[in-house]
Amino acid sequence: MVMVDRIADGEVARNYVGGEWREATGDESGDVVNPATGERVGTVPFSSADDEDEAVALANEAFAEWSSTAVEERIQPLFRLKSLLEEHQESLAEVLVTEHGKTKREAMGEIRRGIENVEVACGVPSTMQAGHLPHAAPDIDETAVRQPLGTVVAVTPFNFPAMIPLWFLPYAVATGNTFVLKPSERDPFTPNRIAELVDEAGFPDGVVNVVHGGPDTVNRLITHDGVEAVSFVGSTPIAEHVYETAAGAGKRVQAQGGAKNHVVVSANADLAYAAEKTCSSAFANAGQRCLANPVAVVEDAVYDEFVDRLVAEAEAMEVGPGLDEGTDMGPLVSGPHRDSVLEYVEAGVEEGAEVLLDGRERDVPEEGYHLGPTVFGDVDPDASVAREEIFGPVLALLRAEDFDDALSLVNRSRYGNAASLFTRDGGEARRFRLEVDAGNVGVNVGTAAPMAFFHFGGDKDSFFGDLHAQGDDAVRFYTDETVYIERWPDA
Ligand code: NAD
Repeated sequence: MVMVDRIADGEVARNYVGGEWREATGDESGDVVNPATGERVGTVPFSSADDEDEAVALANEAFAEWSSTAVEERIQPLFRLKSLLEEHQESLAEVLVTEHGKTKREAMGEIRRGIENVEVACGVPSTMQAGHLPHAAPDIDETAVRQPLGTVVAVTPFNFPAMIPLWFLPYAVATGNTFVLKPSERDPFTPNRIAELVDEAGFPDGVVNVVHGGPDTVNRLITHDGVEAVSFVGSTPIAEHVYETAAGAGKRVQAQGGAKNHVVVSANADLAYAAEKTCSSAFANAGQRCLANPVAVVEDAVYDEFVDRLVAEAEAMEVGPGLDEGTDMGPLVSGPHRDSVLEYVEAGVEEGAEVLLDGRERDVPEEGYHLGPTVFGDVDPDASVAREEIFGPVLALLRAEDFDDALSLVNRSRYGNAASLFTRDGGEARRFRLEVDAGNVGVNVGTAAPMAFFHFGGDKDSFFGDLHAQGDDAVRFYTDETVYIERWPDA
């Protein structure tokens, strides 16, 4: 029986290729560090071009049989994978916390979100159907079918090392494609443990593969002759680069980028509820979420009361190691990333924002990359802390004259991943849904995360492509539609 083991001392992350575990043979490697202690826990050797060629070749080979396997049979290993993920959720969460830093509760929630995508992909016998119309023209019947593409690649970021690979893997293979994952080099053991469960679930060799590496591996995979489509999630500059490079090489591409989401607190909002949800949205996962709301635009009439409530919520958060009971916010993922967040905090002070809560002054464990939550008040909408993605526990409060002013402050952002409104006024909620420029829109929801059976939105510089991850969009992204036009004159 498969076990999900803790990261062994000095463990080396291996590739999973053609159903076998192999060490990558590239010249470079990366350290895997426990962000709660700053200690190196393992190594990830990067793949060479030969490793990638082999993975793609074995995936191409497996495609011939897998794509013609009955769909009902293709989803059976996914049902087993769902059970295995549930059975090992807790030990997988511990691996995840060790290399990422988030709290165990957050890791458990992340894995649950991933499992939901496996569940939705199990519905592919229904969702993959297209259409049929007898008598489409005189004596002509027409049928549209969705066919798998071939070998598809997913490149994923560090902040959700379990969930984001599962945004893609289940749909890609359920629709009959073969799959190569290039996970983040910062937390490779979680996707590897998932690959162990994939192996146990009984997918044929070569249907699911994992290759580790950095930018060179990505750039070779996304232009590889044997690859048909690329799914990417990461920061905006890399998403744009991946979109342009892979599309230029003739691939189908969906590339999800960075974010700077806003929440609007209307004068009509339930302020206690809005403060609680805004706080958790800004600081969960230490702010390292593409759906976090690091900017709150608050109507002047309720600004002071909202600030008092919000700061009290943020002050009450326990900062510490993610595996400790009672921790509300874990460390940042790495030393350099914490330094970059600290630079933004300093910039916020220099740019004249009011420091309502200073994360630098929080008493946090000395080891590791902890930082307390920072709240800036009366931030200039043009300040860097209001506009740029910080990806850390820093919340900027903007004061708006009224609802119209708040809406226009939100829509000035170059990003459009998500936006939320807190209100008790239905008319305002309707206007917000219709007028806000964001792909995931929340009303009285702190973090606008769609369930797996809906697509995961994203607009403006937060998304490059047409079809999104999750739900029907995922099925359409991983399939090509063909139309059969038939006439049987003697029938
Ligand atoms: P990142 O862009 O640094 O890395 C993402 C992936 O790209 C990794 O696998 C990495 O190896 C690869 N990569 C890095 N540099 C590259 C290069 N020059 N060429 C080719 N590949 C390269 O992102 P990250 O720091 O791992 O993750 C955080 C970012 O991801 C944030 O900007 C966050 O908003 C974004 N994100 C977006 C979503 C979304 O749904 N829109 C979800 C999660 C995270």
